[in-house]
Amino acid sequence: MPVLRLKVKCVSCQREVAKLESRQVPSMTKDPRYQCFLCFKRHQPIQWGLGDEEKKKQAWYCARCNYHFKAKKEKCPYCGKSDLLSAGKVAVRDLL
Ligand SMILES: [Zn+2]
Ligand SMILES: [Zn+2]
Repeated sequence: MPVLRLKVKCVSCQREVAKLESRQVPSMTKDPRYQCFLCFKRHQPIQWGLGDEEKKKQAWYCARCNYHFKAKKEKCPYCGKSDLLSAGKVAVRDLL
């Protein structure tokens, strides 16, 4: 039987999947364990990078610098201070 047809059992959903469509996952035993792509995707931690980062960032406005920015910390990147910061979007009248 060609190696390509090799089937492995997914540790998560117990389905038999082609070895090519699975990935090996760390195992406590000597036996290799595999996970199918579907389960692999489903068990992925929440995406690293953009999506996650954006959620943690807040919109700020520094009245001193008249500067809008997004940051995790309550600190203006221009003046480095937070005393004149306000959170979120600024009302139009504040800009006039
Ligand atoms: Zn699976
Ligand atoms: Zn500032």
